[in-house]
Amino acid sequence: MKASVKNLKPYVPEQPLASLQRELGLPKLVRLSANENPYGSSPQVKAAIQAWDFDQANRYPDADARALRSAVAAKEGVGPEQLVFSVGLDEMIVMVSRTFLAPGDAVLVSGPTFSEYGLHAQIEGASLVTVPTLANDHVDFQAMAAALTPQVKMVWLCNPNNPTGTVESLADIEAFIQQVPTDTMVMIDEAYLDFAPNAAALTAMQLPTRYANVVVMRTFSKAYGLANFRIGYAVFAPKLAPTMQAVRLPYNVNSLTQVAALAALNDQQFLQTTVSQNAQQRANWLAYLAKNGYQFDDSAANFIFFAHPRAAELAEYLRQHGYLIRTGLRPGWLRLTVGTAVKRNQPGDTTINDRV
Ligand SMILES: *Cc1c(COP(=O)(O)O)cnc(C)c1O
Repeated sequence: MKASVKNLKPYVPEQPLASLQRELGLPKLVRLSANENPYGSSPQVKAAIQAWDFDQANRYPDADARALRSAVAAKEGVGPEQLVFSVGLDEMIVMVSRTFLAPGDAVLVSGPTFSEYGLHAQIEGASLVTVPTLANDHVDFQAMAAALTPQVKMVWLCNPNNPTGTVESLADIEAFIQQVPTDTMVMIDEAYLDFAPNAAALTAMQLPTRYANVVVMRTFSKAYGLANFRIGYAVFAPKLAPTMQAVRLPYNVNSLTQVAALAALNDQQFLQTTVSQNAQQRANWLAYLAKNGYQFDDSAANFIFFAHPRAAELAEYLRQHGYLIRTGLRPGWLRLTVGTAVKRNQPGDTTINDRV
C-alpha cells in the first residue's frame, strides 16, 4: 500500500434515507444535508429513460458521448473537443488530481471548502495548503496569491463555494488567475453556479480557451436533479483535452446516464423553475436568519451556512424530528440545504422555521 493512503479520512457518504428513517422510527425524513434537488428531476428524463432501447444493454456505451457532447458544447459555447465527461464531478476531481499532481506537490484551497479536493491531493501524495476565508467567508484572493509557491501545482476555486455558499465575481477570479504561474492549474468548480443570481455573467466557462491552465467544471447532480445518474463534465484548454481523454476510463459514463443528461439539458424550463423556486426559498431563509440575529453567509447556492450557539444539539434535535442537516464543516456552524416551501397552518405540521 502506498504511504499516502494509510491514514485517509474517507468522505462520509449519506445513509440511504429509507433505512435511516426506519432506524429513527419516523413517519417522514427530509434530507437537507446533501444539496440534492428537492424538486426532483425533469419528467423528460423519466420519459427518455423509459424509451431507452434495452437491447443495447450488452453493448458498450458511446465512449465519446457524442450526442451529449455536442449539446453541452452548444450550450456552453465551447468546442466539443474541450469537454471531458466523468462519473459525477467526483470522478473529475480524481482524474485531475491523478493527472496533475505528484508526490511532494502542494494544492492550494480557500477554506472551508469541499473536502474531496484535499482527499485526492493526499492520495496523490500532495499536501494541502488552506488559506482561510475573509470574515464574510469570501475568498481572500490577496492571501491566496501570497500563498502561491513553486510547490503549488493546483489551486481549487469552488464558485459558489461549498459550504459557505458565497460567490466570487468573474473579474476577481480572472485577476487572481493572472497572478498564478502558467504551469499551476486553476480548477474552478461550478457545481452550484446555476443557482447564483446572474449565473451567465459569473461563469468562467470561457477562460480555459484563453488560459491553458484553467479548468471549469459542472455537474448534473444539483440543479438538474440527476445525482443518482452520476455525471459531470469539465472544460479544458484544447491542448490539454487529449491528455485528459487518455487518463479517463473509456466507458466511464454509461448510456442511460448519457440519455438522462441529454434530456435534462434539453429541459431548461425545469432548470429555470428549480432555480427560481430555490431563490425564493433561499431569500426566505436568509431573511429569517437575519431577523433572528443569527450569523450566516450570504448564499448564491441551494444551501445556507449559518452559526448557531448550540449547533450540534440543534442538528440532533432536527434529526430526531425528521430533518437532516450537515454538521462537522466548521465548529458551531451548520449547512442547510434549501428545501421546498413549507406548508403552513396545517394541523400537526412541524416546520423547521418554527423550530430553529
Ligand atoms: C456535489 C458537489 C460536487 C460533485 O457532485 P457529483 O455528484 O459527483 O457530480 C462537486 N463539487 C462540489 C463542490 C459539490 O458540492
